[in-house]
Amino acid sequence: MNQEHIRLIRRLKVELAVPRRILVTTHQGPDGDGMGASLAMYRFLKKQGHDVYVITPNDYPEFLQWMPFNADVINYMRQKPVAEAIIEKAEYVFHMDYNHLKRSADMSHSLYKCKAVRVLIDHHPKPELPSKYIFSETEVSSTCELLFNLMKLWDIRMIDRDIATCIYTGIMTDTGSFCYRSVHAQTFSVAAELMKYGIDRTEIYDKVYDSYSENRMRLMGYCLNEKMEVFPQYSTALISLNLEEQAKYGFVVGDSEGFVNLPLSIKGICFSAFFLEKEEKIKMSFRSKGDFSVNDFSRKHFGGGGHLNAAGGDIKKPMNDLIQQFRDLLPLYEKELNKQ
Ligand code: 5GP
Ligand code: MN
Repeated sequence: MNQEHIRLIRRLKVELAVPRRILVTTHQGPDGDGMGASLAMYRFLKKQGHDVYVITPNDYPEFLQWMPFNADVINYMRQKPVAEAIIEKAEYVFHMDYNHLKRSADMSHSLYKCKAVRVLIDHHPKPELPSKYIFSETEVSSTCELLFNLMKLWDIRMIDRDIATCIYTGIMTDTGSFCYRSVHAQTFSVAAELMKYGIDRTEIYDKVYDSYSENRMRLMGYCLNEKMEVFPQYSTALISLNLEEQAKYGFVVGDSEGFVNLPLSIKGICFSAFFLEKEEKIKMSFRSKGDFSVNDFSRKHFGGGGHLNAAGGDIKKPMNDLIQQFRDLLPLYEKELNKQ
């Protein structure tokens, strides 16, 4: 066990020995790990008698909206005055699954100003969010895996079936159902411990992955048939979706979740990019297999970031220019990409 974390948990427990007003929040475009960690933390702190709130910067996919305590989530984008009042009065802010305030979108200004004590719980490299309590481990599969270990140190008696469900959802979604390289023996040990709380593994899987709308299914077909560009000489593939195409398929938040992974199922493809046009920017997602660092690629060329095999970023640029920029970059990486 991480000795520094043990020391920090001890100190945090002393500070939280009396009821506090606590805000739990996560990154924009919350994913299963961000939501799982936030809702698990919410429940854990509430059970200890604190006044706790969960605020997301914006919308998150419907396939995560079944999670325990989802009804308590406040959406900054949609409930700004309520959210602002909570941020202002918070004594503690827990930042889950991100390490830079710019990942909070429009909420970042208020979070910058907020004087609360910050607690960071995350698994991304290079934290840049100054916090009194930093629990940052890059060796874990997910923030949820780290959070479970911290909760055990903090007060194992507080962990219940709902918390276990949230945590399992986060680990499952961040590991591609326990497939990615980020999965270690310890990840399975945590999953085994979570099962002892009576979680329904198959129901969780079904709610997350087998709950496509017809539109989403057809959009996926369209992407694969019409929009996927394969660059065999660079072991790379790219899919893009503009606003017009999204409108045609009645696109809602979350409908393209996971599409970036699809080309990696093609034999020989080790690098995949997905560009999604939004009102004011393009959201980029990058995935790789092997040692090709999409984190470095995204940081260097697009001001984004992430992990070795999963990264992303935002850019304000016309879609066609971005696609061309991407194509032009590939020859620079020919050797590296073909090594995989
Ligand atoms: P996704 O493609 O699922 O949105 O993001 C994959 C990973 O890339 C996330 O876990 C996150 O670590 C990282 N990521 C996504 N978008 C951004 C971004 O705009 N900036 C940074 N620094 N990282 C991002
Ligand atoms: Mn994560």
